[in-house]
Amino acid sequence: MLGKIETYHPPEWAATLSYIPKKKVHLAMTNTPIHPWKVPGVPEDFTVSVKRDDLTGCALSGNKVRKLEFLLADALHQGCRHVITSGGPLSNHCRTVALCARQLGLTPHLFLSSDVTDVKQLLTEGNMLLSRLCGAHMYVTPFDPLFRTPEADMKELAQQIQSASGESSYIIPGGGTNKCGLFAYIDVFEELIQQGVLEQFDDLFVTCGSTGTMAALGIANYLTGGHLRLHAAGISKTVDTFYDTFDEELLEVGLGHLKARDLVRIVDGRGNGFGQFTDEELDFIQRVMVETSVPLDPNYTGKAAFSMVKEMQTNPSAFKGRRVLFIHTGGLFGLFHGQIKTFMEKKEELQPRIRIWPEN
Ligand SMILES: *Cc1c(COP(=O)(O)O)cnc(C)c1O
Repeated sequence: MLGKIETYHPPEWAATLSYIPKKKVHLAMTNTPIHPWKVPGVPEDFTVSVKRDDLTGCALSGNKVRKLEFLLADALHQGCRHVITSGGPLSNHCRTVALCARQLGLTPHLFLSSDVTDVKQLLTEGNMLLSRLCGAHMYVTPFDPLFRTPEADMKELAQQIQSASGESSYIIPGGGTNKCGLFAYIDVFEELIQQGVLEQFDDLFVTCGSTGTMAALGIANYLTGGHLRLHAAGISKTVDTFYDTFDEELLEVGLGHLKARDLVRIVDGRGNGFGQFTDEELDFIQRVMVETSVPLDPNYTGKAAFSMVKEMQTNPSAFKGRRVLFIHTGGLFGLFHGQIKTFMEKKEELQPRIRIWPEN
């Protein structure tokens, strides 16, 4: 039943990790489908399928709802009444925290890093609109290009809430990435095994934003014998930064003897930078929609799928085989954010196929 908290038992192969979460709360629709995906531009000798983890429920909350099954279970287990987290106005994580917190009767607080001077501008678009509809408390902090979690601010707010109401708060790091959230995609890997992925595919391709999803898949693949080769497109930071973060995550679960570079191959998928997209990327998203009807978002999965096709074209030997599974991590509401509107208006070939009927 949705919202039910249970004692968590990891898959057998993950039981040796040095940290295991105690509780899990049911929020996600699991066993998301896998289907063939004829992505335009993929070389003929490759076949691509997609794991539709954009369809995990909770208003299409993608990979983030899976992480919150562990993080919010921990919050409830600790008796917290408030949840505090951080991200940017584009953050799918913040919006999912807002939704899932309300679902479980918790009050959401979001620290949003942005350099807009008029905060109201942000409130009716994409994820922000949804967070607002959830009645999330929002705090706008100066834009931080390095996406550091504003830990001190979050702690200070927790203290303010504590002294004002006596209620305690649970702080979730940006992207929901820590050793607890990691178990989301440990469990997804077990789901992939049940779905026959180890036999049917050679390579996995995933988007990397705050590293949690990639790290969990990398660890799971290692612990189950390394049948697949994992590739990740980093969309926000440099490839080296992502490897370093993954190395730290390995330490936290008792796998410090391993190196991130041996578990995943990360490519730079930033294009023009996080939250900025190129004409090519947007054209790609539209072609994928026309030819396959799978919606990609401009900030995460659009960039990653674009990078995947580019890698297949220019660097095919980097793949273990030719049967590739793309993990679709969600992000749909990124398409409803203002920048894309300006872009669509100025691009002639993307002009809408629309006219007044009947003509006179
Ligand atoms: C957050 C997010 C990612 C990245 O996942 P991480 O675990 O943060 O690396 C990928 N795709 C979408 C749509 C996301 O919202």
